[in-house]
Amino acid sequence: MSFMLNFLGNIPRANAPIPVHQEGTVVVKVPHRPLAEDSLIFGLVNGKKFVDWTDADHQNTYTALQKAARIWEEKKIEDFIVIGKATKDENFHWEAAPYTKPSGCFWNLNQVLSRYCYLRFLKVLPIARRKIKQIGVLRRVVFQGSLLSRKKQNEIQRSYQQKFSIVSDYQPRSSEEGEDYFCSEAVIKAQSVFEGNKVRILYNYAPVGVGKKKRHFMIMPKEHRTNFLDLKQDEYVEAAQLAQALFKHFQMPAYLFHKTNPESGQTVPHWHLHVPFYETKVEEWVGKLTVFKNTVWGSKRLSPGALDQEVLKYRQELQGLTKKTS
Ligand SMILES: [Zn+2]
Repeated sequence: MSFMLNFLGNIPRANAPIPVHQEGTVVVKVPHRPLAEDSLIFGLVNGKKFVDWTDADHQNTYTALQKAARIWEEKKIEDFIVIGKATKDENFHWEAAPYTKPSGCFWNLNQVLSRYCYLRFLKVLPIARRKIKQIGVLRRVVFQGSLLSRKKQNEIQRSYQQKFSIVSDYQPRSSEEGEDYFCSEAVIKAQSVFEGNKVRILYNYAPVGVGKKKRHFMIMPKEHRTNFLDLKQDEYVEAAQLAQALFKHFQMPAYLFHKTNPESGQTVPHWHLHVPFYETKVEEWVGKLTVFKNTVWGSKRLSPGALDQEVLKYRQELQGLTKKTS
């Protein structure tokens, strides 16, 4: 037995993420267990827990992420999800996973649950393929992805390094008036639980939060911004600050994520940061499974009465949120 343990102990350490770009305090890396091929990690040079990230850290994240989005755009990739897990003890980072468009049988072989190739022959609707791809990424968020070979990781590093060095500063696109759900006065009136300066917090009418109290918030700019490419830096920073304030307030783990464009699962064309909290220990296997199930399949919509009750409760509870926690 001791021989076995000794033997296991001598196995070379698994790969670590490798850096491709630095944006002030933020370092962009190629993960060794990616959520999708070509995905990137955005962490801090000096790792910090989520609550300790500063405004400058958020600003740098925004800039680096806009640059990555432009690099993907050139490769005709317009859809991506950005996701992070905030806990009390671990250093926080975001991972941005681009969604490549289907191109033949192998388009998603690495992206998805693998061996779903036969779906092509079953002529399954594109929407099903899209969903499977999304599930693949979420599965890896919750259960960890498989190890990327060092060789592959280095290849990805080289291609990104080059591109990051030439991409110029990004100017957000101007966005038109929106007629979506989050621009609707009625929705804001019914679901807003906190009004910030340029962003607000809505309570989700079908919360996926795990635990007895389903806490699932969405933070979005008051002005219409279709997706991350339209979002202004100060709006992003305030959204991140409010997510930190919520995290400090509820004191439990949360998954934070935002999606850009429908292929990645963005259903409302108005940028929003999801903040669902998890009362159960997400490290437990059952906890992980529950998180996965709820994130993929969503939850039941609350009845109008129950929604009103929750919104009223949180409106009171979160009064002076930023004053209390800053
Ligand atoms: Zn809108």
